[in-house]
Amino acid sequence: MSKSNIFIANWKMNLSVDEDVILSIKLKESLAENNSVTTVICPPFTHLYSIKNILSGSNILLGAQDMSWMGKGSFTGEIAPFMLKEMGVQYVVIGHSERRLNLKETDEMINKKIKSALRTDLIPILCVGETFEERQQGRKDFVIAGQVESAFAKIQLNGKKIAVAYEPVWVIGSGQAVKIDEAEHAVRVIKQVLLDISPDIDLKNDVDILYGGSVDSKNISYFTESKLINGVLVGGASLDHEEFVKMIKIMNK
Ligand code: PEP
Repeated sequence: MSKSNIFIANWKMNLSVDEDVILSIKLKESLAENNSVTTVICPPFTHLYSIKNILSGSNILLGAQDMSWMGKGSFTGEIAPFMLKEMGVQYVVIGHSERRLNLKETDEMINKKIKSALRTDLIPILCVGETFEERQQGRKDFVIAGQVESAFAKIQLNGKKIAVAYEPVWVIGSGQAVKIDEAEHAVRVIKQVLLDISPDIDLKNDVDILYGGSVDSKNISYFTESKLINGVLVGGASLDHEEFVKMIKIMNK
């Protein structure tokens, strides 16, 4: 695998629309030149329309933090994939641990969302990772493998692009990323499961494998220099303009 080349910023539910708009304008300016990293920002749904207009003509892409698996209809509060497409969204985070744990999102729901994203030509970014307890119990590989297997169950990829982010739940937002060996081990497990369930899969061209969990400008190079990892998913550190630009610069080196 070549150089690490994708950076996904998960802005979660942190900033106001004005703050996210200002951050987007600054990023558009700062990353206008010398950026060969695929840079994707995932703002809250209510900010997508304003940010879509700002990013027009820039080299920054839009992602969403979640979506409904349903196409259209009476689903109060949900956002359909076609609505994301209308906002210019190309990537969608699916199965983030905050949704699995706080909102009881199940593997079955995640599988439906992946199917629906692929049907709509959105690139799903599946998040997988073990909790601290699962790690302590020595169940880490089993948990990760199970999450990947059920997310892609009965799905024919047929050359569609996907991303899978290894995000150990216990390091998200902790300020302390995992050691590179531990991330690479999880990535090997993820790749093996993808090959087992989809032997024709083109891991090199159709799958981006990311690491996420307390990535910042001080530790990003450990992950992006790994031959096994294509990029990073960044939460907290991506809310800061200077940190964001620093990380992209490091990836472009
Ligand atoms: C995340 O929640 O996906 C994430 C990676 O967050 P942080 O970078 O803040 O750990």
